[in-house]
Amino acid sequence: MAKLLRGFRDLFETEAQKLTKVERISRDIFKIYGVNELRLPTLELKEIFIKATGQTTDIVQKEMYAFEDGGGRLVAMRPEGTPGVARAYIENNFQANPVQKFFYIGNMFRAERPQAGRYREFEQIGVEYIGNASPAADAEVILMLKAIFDKLGVKNYKVKINSIGCKECRPKFREDLIKFFTLQKDSLCEKCQTRLEVNPLRVLDCKIDGPKFTQSAPKQVLCPSCQKHFDEVKKYLEGKVPFEVDPCLVRGLDYYTKTVFEFQADIAGAQNALAAGGRYDDLIASMGGPKVPAVGWALGAERVALASTFEEIKTKKVFVVSVEESSNSYAFNLLQDLRDNGFTAEGGLFDKNLKAQMKQANKIGADFAIIIGGNEVAKNTLLLKNLNSGKQKEIVYQDLFTALKEEK
Ligand code: AMP
Repeated sequence: MAKLLRGFRDLFETEAQKLTKVERISRDIFKIYGVNELRLPTLELKEIFIKATGQTTDIVQKEMYAFEDGGGRLVAMRPEGTPGVARAYIENNFQANPVQKFFYIGNMFRAERPQAGRYREFEQIGVEYIGNASPAADAEVILMLKAIFDKLGVKNYKVKINSIGCKECRPKFREDLIKFFTLQKDSLCEKCQTRLEVNPLRVLDCKIDGPKFTQSAPKQVLCPSCQKHFDEVKKYLEGKVPFEVDPCLVRGLDYYTKTVFEFQADIAGAQNALAAGGRYDDLIASMGGPKVPAVGWALGAERVALASTFEEIKTKKVFVVSVEESSNSYAFNLLQDLRDNGFTAEGGLFDKNLKAQMKQANKIGADFAIIIGGNEVAKNTLLLKNLNSGKQKEIVYQDLFTALKEEK
């Protein structure tokens, strides 16, 4: 029997509509901020993710859908958007324009253990500001994300920020963490015991071990330039969005420098990280491009959709019913006429009898049924039934649009 793969989903009606809504609101905000769309391929050379996302990350080590294609190339379904954006930036010589602001919308693939709010194919909407080293850029992308959350009606979300330093100050922090965690190795979870040497920052990020060491773990001491940058980011955000500095927020990916942030909210039974991002000043150069600073984020569209409370303005729905064969073409023309005038209209089930057509009108939640038979055609009238009140009346065709607008 045909069967869906584990961790993959078919999205129907409300779920699909909610995602579209998250996309639409995000696009509205991107327009206000002057961010341009970049459509990226789903498949890239695997090495792009190894280089960008990082050899030691869970994503690269075990979550990628990677395979050899017919031409013997090692390729991977993208697990995140930033490496593709960086690749496109380098390849298309975008640096001719010193500052670039991109957004992307697309599905990502990670072979993670499926849970509520964690899927193997999911949608990310992301933003990347490239070429702006100012702390104002970090603050601006955070405020852009806030604008999207607010417009979607996401309630009670928390914004956490931190700075993980740069090539100058991070190595010392890394060493301190290795020393500290080596002393406690036995009390670390199995995963952290293996990643301790290669990626000790990730221990702080671990759902099991992170909270145990929040207080006691060594703290990052930033170099003067990173400290100044972080202070300025906070200054720009002050009074515009409530945020919390969380020294244990380190982010799972290798490419971050300086500012990192996460938007969190409690969604019943699901993962609480709704969106995350940070600055990645060394990534593009490390992939063979120019030395150019960058900052960005990605939101998980499914999780944000789950947390959003934005109500669509309900448009009135009309269902056109034809009772006789002789009224079919009159009804069909009316259906098109309604749509041309901006009404949501369905119908056209002319192979079914009156009862079955009315049943369908109720099933789709129509507000009105317009019933037409030979009689109505002869008189150029129609029967307008308000399905909410049950009342019906005969009206002349010309009065229909006004009547529909007036009816409650
Ligand atoms: P990341 O690229 O891991 O920083 O994730 C950014 C955002 O994408 C997260 O905050 C989530 O909202 C979303 N996300 C990440 N992984 C998944 C997944 N497996 N299923 C659904 N959403 C995800």
